[in-house]
Amino acid sequence: MAEFTMELNDEQKEVQDWVHGFAAQVIRPAAAEWDEREETPWPVIQEAAKVGIYSLDFYAQQYFDPTGLGLPMAMEELFWGDAGIALSIVGTGLAAVGVLANGTEEQIGTWIPQMYGDASDVKVAAFCSSEPDAGSDVASMRTRAVYDGAKDEWVLNGTKTWATNGGIANVHVVVAVVDPELGSKGHASFIVPPGTPGLSQGQKFKKHGIRASHTAEVVLDDVRIPGSCLLGGKDRLDERLARARERAKGGERLKNAAMATFEASRPAVGAMAVGTARAAYEVALDYAKTREQFGRPIIDNQGVAFQLADMRTRIDAARLLVWRASWMAANGRPFTSAEGSMSKLFASEAAKQVTAQAVQILGGNGFTREYPVERMHRDAAIYTIFEGTSEIQRLVIARTLSGMPIR
Ligand SMILES: Cc1cc2nc3c(=O)[nH]c(=O)nc-3n(C[C@H](O)[C@H](O)[C@H](O)COP(=O)(O)OP(=O)(O)OC[C@H]3O[C@@H](n4cnc5c(N)ncnc54)[C@H](O)[C@@H]3O)c2cc1C
Repeated sequence: MAEFTMELNDEQKEVQDWVHGFAAQVIRPAAAEWDEREETPWPVIQEAAKVGIYSLDFYAQQYFDPTGLGLPMAMEELFWGDAGIALSIVGTGLAAVGVLANGTEEQIGTWIPQMYGDASDVKVAAFCSSEPDAGSDVASMRTRAVYDGAKDEWVLNGTKTWATNGGIANVHVVVAVVDPELGSKGHASFIVPPGTPGLSQGQKFKKHGIRASHTAEVVLDDVRIPGSCLLGGKDRLDERLARARERAKGGERLKNAAMATFEASRPAVGAMAVGTARAAYEVALDYAKTREQFGRPIIDNQGVAFQLADMRTRIDAARLLVWRASWMAANGRPFTSAEGSMSKLFASEAAKQVTAQAVQILGGNGFTREYPVERMHRDAAIYTIFEGTSEIQRLVIARTLSGMPIR
């Protein structure tokens, strides 16, 4: 087990400097343009692939860092650059985690490389769980997966929504119902390989923030996939369903595939929020030191300086919660107080508060697209919504702490 330390080791510091350099030199300068275009920034993803930041190797290295700090540290730097572009770069990781969490070694080896492509031909992947009538309430999912034993194929039908990279992905990971009697325990995850007939993009959403990241509906119309595309394989699914039926009889709770994926990714979302908050705080601090009113820099006023003190304190507190949860996950510590959800809840709310304060400190300039805090404030709003809203995080935390079925 890795020893706990508050300090990044030399290797981590090197990675941090490298990712920060890419964020400062490539991502940040492109941010305003791709926010306006509301399109996937393919050239930036390609640039990230060329230097090795958009790759399975880089992602796996950070994901499996024994201290747990590699992934949140990389996320914070990328999202410090720009949230929309960074999500385009790391969105594939959510689908990859879905495969890592539920797939066999063979599935991991076959599909994850196809999610990323290579530097000369970059690809992205999508994780499709949410549906029009199943957002927070994952159990009400309707997309069906039916096994055709004669052909050893699964047939998927339904509509997914809000899928990051949905429809433009090379590989889609789709969560579907295999046994409606079991609610969320009857879900399974599937790979839809590139070019599979029946999968199409529905509406592409025009969003408030993270506009460089593509978000769309994914329609599944009699999508036939080989039996080998069931993540984890049929034997494991049958065993899991049998266990779920048994446990359901005894009233026990069992984690489902989608929840396992979300659980693993929550502190990483907290780290994204820390990156956006830190970016806005830095702009506000510089501005407050140089902008003069009443013959002195506005930071000379406690009303401004104290806001900056609060902003920085919130950011540091958020990072500590994120690092704690990431360290616990990497070291197999059980989340007995829902520490993963706590980190996401606190960091996402902090990002909203800090970016709003940054807009205020920049005054009229903060309200324009001439300065980046306006975009950062719009971007920050996503963190309290995706990967479980703040209300759902509070539900998870309160239920974990109390053991009560709080509604
Ligand atoms: C930009 C973007 C990207 C996304 N990317 C993905 C993706 O890649 N893959 C994917 O599968 N999904 C993705 N999502 C979906 C996201 O996870 C959902 O939007 C989120 O889970 C909330 O679901 P909903 O939008 O249906 O809101 P609803 O569940 O309808 O919630 C609406 C409001 O009601 C509140 N609420 C609901 N239930 C309760 C309750 N029990 N107690 C208290 N309050 C409650 C919520 O907190 C919220 O404030 C994305 C969403 C967005 C906006």
